[in-house]
Amino acid sequence: MRKPFNSTIVHLVMLYSGSSIAGGPLVLEGPNGNTPVNYQNSNISLDVENGDLGALSNTKANALVQQSLNLWNNINTSTVNLTLNKASINLDVNQGNYTTYIAVDAGSAPNPNDMLNPLIYDNDGTITSAFFGQQSDNILGFAASSIAFGSSHFEEGFIVINGADFGYTDADYVLLFAHEIAHFFGLDHSQANINNQESSSGFPAFCSASSSSYPVMYPIACRNSDSLHSDDISAASALYPETNINDTLGVLEGLLTTDTGNILPGANIWVENIVTGEIFSIVSDYLREGTGFYRLYLPAGNYTLHANSINPEFSRGSGVGPYSRTETDVSFIAPLPITSFTYQETAGSDTIITINVNQTLVVNFSSIDSTLAAPPKQAITPTSKGGGTVSLLSLLLVAVLLWIRRIGYKH
Ligand SMILES: [Zn+2]
Repeated sequence: MRKPFNSTIVHLVMLYSGSSIAGGPLVLEGPNGNTPVNYQNSNISLDVENGDLGALSNTKANALVQQSLNLWNNINTSTVNLTLNKASINLDVNQGNYTTYIAVDAGSAPNPNDMLNPLIYDNDGTITSAFFGQQSDNILGFAASSIAFGSSHFEEGFIVINGADFGYTDADYVLLFAHEIAHFFGLDHSQANINNQESSSGFPAFCSASSSSYPVMYPIACRNSDSLHSDDISAASALYPETNINDTLGVLEGLLTTDTGNILPGANIWVENIVTGEIFSIVSDYLREGTGFYRLYLPAGNYTLHANSINPEFSRGSGVGPYSRTETDVSFIAPLPITSFTYQETAGSDTIITINVNQTLVVNFSSIDSTLAAPPKQAITPTSKGGGTVSLLSLLLVAVLLWIRRIGYKH
């Protein structure tokens, strides 16, 4: 995260992994390069150091971190369960000794093979500066987890929180911790339904909507509601599902294609509950199958279905989804970007999609033009997604990811 651009609390969150998925997993692995990576044992301990975090005492910082952990731990459809171990790193980690616990810089492997998950309080920001160099002026925190070769699970990771004075309130820290903790355990950024033209320099400016509209995992820390967004809950549940998740949530899945039938990867897909207003999102082809596949866990209810482009400012460190590694990646080139369109079986009328628990609803979402009729939806109970052919484009992307996938640094 970065510090505010102005007096408003605005923090830019950056990522250094190219394999990132909005509203979903941060890293993909496996033989086909499309298996979401998580910790195999969802009971995960963070090894916190014993120094202070800027103006926060160690005790105070730990108490706020515990609040952040509880946000994720209290999701009843997810098994992720994070605890704080205060005994394993019984010293102050600082600029002089941090390389014992994490990599020297962002270009190195994430961390020593010590099987610790250090939570480092960078008391004055000097670790962050040393790690990132001149780009670190406004980085509030970063996190990474590494994967053992041949595995589809994280092995160990770390979190660094910048303790420089950013004018943070306790509540701001809870959300910052929650964001970095989620990167650590494998969640990517999410754009949810936010205006994809938000900008740090133009209008609409970042954080222009209600703060509760933004997920914790938005690339900019616009949220100040001391809770998780529905999108955060769905994403964590998808990565660490309870065995009975289908008794609580339904699934919406399908393929996103252009109006001419070509796959449309790298678009932001979201649904909105027409009663509660809850929003859930995923990036099309988020598993890089070359099909435009998308999948969302949703509470039962009635929804409308939408898509737009990833905000052009959300590439590289701020990336949303697996096709946002650079400013000219798939999410940002023709036929994307698009402003927004809505699934309409009848032109001019938004189709209401009904989700039931223990059911998968398939909606093949076609067209980049809301005036074009979309294919009918189909309900099946329950299902697993089909495979897909891998496009040449996907193969090229995988080749790049083989190099960078082991480095999951995110701000
Ligand atoms: Zn982030």
